[in-house]
Amino acid sequence: MRPASATGDDAGMDTFDVIVIGAGPVGENAADRAKRGGLSVAIVEAELVGGECSYWACMPSKTLLRPGAARAAAAGVPGVPDIGPLDPIAILAWRDKVTGEGDDSGQEEWLDSAGITLIRGHGRLAGERTVEVTAGELAQGEASTRTLTATRAVVVATGSVPVLPDIPGLVDADPWTSRDATAADAVPDSLVILGGGVVGCEMAMAYADLGARVTLIARGGLLGAAEPFAGAAVADSLRDLGVEVLTGASATRAARDGDVTVTVADAAGAERDIVASEILVATGRTPRTGDVGLDTVGLDPRAPLAIDDSTAVLAASADGDPWLYACGDVTGRVATTHQGKYQARVCGDVIAARAAGTEDADHEWSPLRATADHGAQTQAVFTRPQVAWVGLTRAQADAAGLSVDEVGVDLGAVGGASVTHPDYAGRIQILVDRERRVIVGATVVGPEAGEMLHAATIAVVGEVTIDRLWHAVPAFPTVSEAWLRLGEAYGL
Ligand SMILES: Cc1cc2nc3c(=O)[nH]c(=O)nc-3n(C[C@H](O)[C@H](O)[C@H](O)COP(=O)(O)OP(=O)(O)OC[C@H]3O[C@@H](n4cnc5c(N)ncnc54)[C@H](O)[C@@H]3O)c2cc1C
Repeated sequence: MRPASATGDDAGMDTFDVIVIGAGPVGENAADRAKRGGLSVAIVEAELVGGECSYWACMPSKTLLRPGAARAAAAGVPGVPDIGPLDPIAILAWRDKVTGEGDDSGQEEWLDSAGITLIRGHGRLAGERTVEVTAGELAQGEASTRTLTATRAVVVATGSVPVLPDIPGLVDADPWTSRDATAADAVPDSLVILGGGVVGCEMAMAYADLGARVTLIARGGLLGAAEPFAGAAVADSLRDLGVEVLTGASATRAARDGDVTVTVADAAGAERDIVASEILVATGRTPRTGDVGLDTVGLDPRAPLAIDDSTAVLAASADGDPWLYACGDVTGRVATTHQGKYQARVCGDVIAARAAGTEDADHEWSPLRATADHGAQTQAVFTRPQVAWVGLTRAQADAAGLSVDEVGVDLGAVGGASVTHPDYAGRIQILVDRERRVIVGATVVGPEAGEMLHAATIAVVGEVTIDRLWHAVPAFPTVSEAWLRLGEAYGL
């Protein structure tokens, strides 16, 4: 049952209104919103405040990709001299600067300024509303444990961990995970990458830009979660860069003897060996639920933390009084920083509203519900071309039994694009719900597609009819004129 009263946020106190386990981008946001809602908040972090995103994921990967994108944007523009090869040493140094070389003191200061108590150590649930934090090295007998009590809620925001596929010899081949790929202090001569998803494609491009000989092995096509034309465009571009892209292929064995040898089978089962300096495994991630004490509250530690749209873990609230919440990668919903932070804003606000007895979520798009998780999620892939999409893909719309019209436009044919770059290439595709005449999905492939996406996201979330969108006049000469062409292609 809920303890009687809340206490303040003094670092010495062991009772807080809210305890957040995991100070990644998502946990930080949940903590911030709960604090702004007038609650005392502690956040528990086992490694670095800022989480995977700041040190080993979004931030370093984007710094590694940006120089190649800048060079490509300039290449071929009349009057702009050839930039020539990139400088890997300068790029890795810039990456280190952006990630702060593993120093999280800036983020710690931010927590402090926000009035959130940081408790360093590994947090585990130890029953309802109770969190045990272990700091120090258990193995060396130097660990100390502190028990915290939450009067209102515990939020689990522990993120995800990479999955290593069960391939004979792989573990002994000392493979890279995304952490190694984003934090490497030198560029290997050659790199073989397992996995054609977002991380595999982005790292293939970044390392090819940095001068490595790259082989990318994907079981299906590339970017399987996106529209097929997006993955095909990225595959073409990687091949143009000199990356060997093997689709419909799987690694069957790996062994290291200095270099690593990976045996790859094609769709027909024919095998060949690929030798490389390093092997990066980018075959997916799984929610980090294994060591969070879920079993102490009757939950399965092997499953994602399933939440409702208020971000409550209902399975933990037998008496109908939600106390356990989760957001971000650990929920098994989409694994992106922005979508996790969206859930986190809902989470912190819901906890504060429920504590104050002011929860009023009487409509689908209430700020207290993560409604966009269904049918309005966004994703951006920072390859060349960039790929970005919102809402449903055609396959998802068909699976949902939705009757949609698919309309696409080549971005290169849009006036604004030809001004930007003589070789501008890309495509935008929208899916229009035939009955309601609203956009339920959009995919953009091309330079700065991530920036182009937000217009589509607003249309999807706002459920704006295609007839009303016709009145949203794009400025001339911009690539956004594609919206005009889409309307024309739809018969307007
Ligand atoms: C290479 C790569 C590139 C990516 N690029 C992008 C991108 O460009 N854009 C994007 O939106 N997403 C990107 N992502 C995904 C993004 O990194 C994640 O979705 C995001 O980090 C999830 O945030 P989170 O707070 O849920 O988890 P995390 O960032 O993983 O943070 C979880 C935190 O919890 C801590 N923790 C875990 N267990 C405990 C415990 N028991 N006690 C205390 N602390 C604990 C961890 O140490 C960590 O600090 C990328 C991912 C990868 C791998």
